[in-house]
Amino acid sequence: MEWFTAMNPATEQVIKKYRPDAAATVQKKLKAGLQAFASWKQTSFEERARILRKAAEILRNRKQEWAELMATEMGKPVAQGISEAEKCAWACEYYAQEAEAMLKPMEVPTDASRSYVTFEPLGLVLAIMPWNFPFWQVFRFLAPNLMAGNTAVLKHASNVPGCALAIQEMMQQAGLPDGVFQTLMVSSAAVKDLIAHPSIQAVTLTGSTEAGKAVARQAGAYLKKTVLELGGSDPYVILADADLDRAAEICVNSRLINSGQSCIAAKRFIVVKDILNAFTERFVALMQEKTMGDPMQEHVDIGPLARTDLRNQLHRQVQRSIQAGARCIIGGKIPKQKGAFYPPTVLTHVKKGMPAFDEELFGPVAAIIAAKDEQEAIQLANQTTFGLGAAVFTRDLQKGEQIAAHQLEAGNCFVNALVKSDPRLPFGGIKSSGYGRELGLFGIREFVNIKTVYMA
Ligand code: NDP
Repeated sequence: MEWFTAMNPATEQVIKKYRPDAAATVQKKLKAGLQAFASWKQTSFEERARILRKAAEILRNRKQEWAELMATEMGKPVAQGISEAEKCAWACEYYAQEAEAMLKPMEVPTDASRSYVTFEPLGLVLAIMPWNFPFWQVFRFLAPNLMAGNTAVLKHASNVPGCALAIQEMMQQAGLPDGVFQTLMVSSAAVKDLIAHPSIQAVTLTGSTEAGKAVARQAGAYLKKTVLELGGSDPYVILADADLDRAAEICVNSRLINSGQSCIAAKRFIVVKDILNAFTERFVALMQEKTMGDPMQEHVDIGPLARTDLRNQLHRQVQRSIQAGARCIIGGKIPKQKGAFYPPTVLTHVKKGMPAFDEELFGPVAAIIAAKDEQEAIQLANQTTFGLGAAVFTRDLQKGEQIAAHQLEAGNCFVNALVKSDPRLPFGGIKSSGYGRELGLFGIREFVNIKTVYMA
């Protein structure tokens, strides 16, 4: 079995190698997860909340350490890693506080003497998570699910084994009983057998559409419920009456979240032609101001991408877009330095049929697309196989709301703001961006048995 190698993408040096779990260890962990469920589901909300509040405290106390771990394993600038750890703490506290009310039995008057709905935990859930937010993606699933009474095993991305083990250790330190949350040190090749295993009741995956399809197929064969949070090519629509300075700033910040490696980073900027030049000028100026460099430095905005293969794949998408007629205004060249770096890049004249329009560009590359008017802008926004997030910029709030609520086809539509996840709101996509929801009332009710109780 191959060992997991944590590699620093800024230096291309091996940080540490981790031994994979032997088949017998995996079986032992699954058994422990199943056994732990029997007692965890009996615990009170108060008991679960106490542990999550402790986890939040640890996350805040050790945020610098976790941020440095993220920076060395996948290149996230350390300041962003600190915010990520704080957001995880917020999610833990939010669900510690709110889960009981979210899962309170719901009375439904019928001809019964009493009929109501309860939300019972399902059991051991397999969580397959990506490297881009190595803490947040895990806590976004874990906090609500622990409060719901489920137990979990984590198969984290192969390039962040240190983060995977750190989360396990932290949850133990918070007082989580043995077996309630465990990290499996396995590769994606082992997932098929995990899904088939009778101890696993459900699967959640955040990652690429291809990985999502593979997991959905396998889970379908065993009729196991899945939640899939997959990629996106989020459109940000800039209308003629938008506040251009503000819109450009928000658009640049969104495109460069996590060095451009976020499912809900803005990827396509659809601009009506009257303001195309004015917007592009502002946008390019702000992209040029960003600092790329060592992710351990506080002032750095953009670190290396998580792996050199991902950087090279991004560069090929840029080149194919240019060959198909896009113009590269800034960036677009692999820097002559060690590490998986890619500079802030702006492509204009992007059209349907180019990778920059049709595919997910997972890095600091912005695609500017011209629309003749508002109607065409909305059409272009929706001309995608994805449907995760979208935003519209206009001073006419009524119009913005109408477009966000009824015209943009995506799971998360924002007006004059950057699309972001929030522990209080449901998060997820439609079309090739997946299905099901994480977070909020809808997220916490994904992996529960919505049980009807009827008393004659
Ligand atoms: P993947 O989707 O391949 O990886 C995400 C997780 O899924 C990892 O834990 C991975 O394990 C696992 N996985 C991958 N393939 C399978 C499979 N067939 N069955 C079960 N589990 C699987 O992302 P990559 O790292 O390869 O990145 C490729 C592209 O995916 C990116 O360029 C980006 O476009 C997209 N992506 C989107 C993310 C998002 O948040 N929407 C997050 C990450 C990637 P392992 O690491 O062991 O392969």
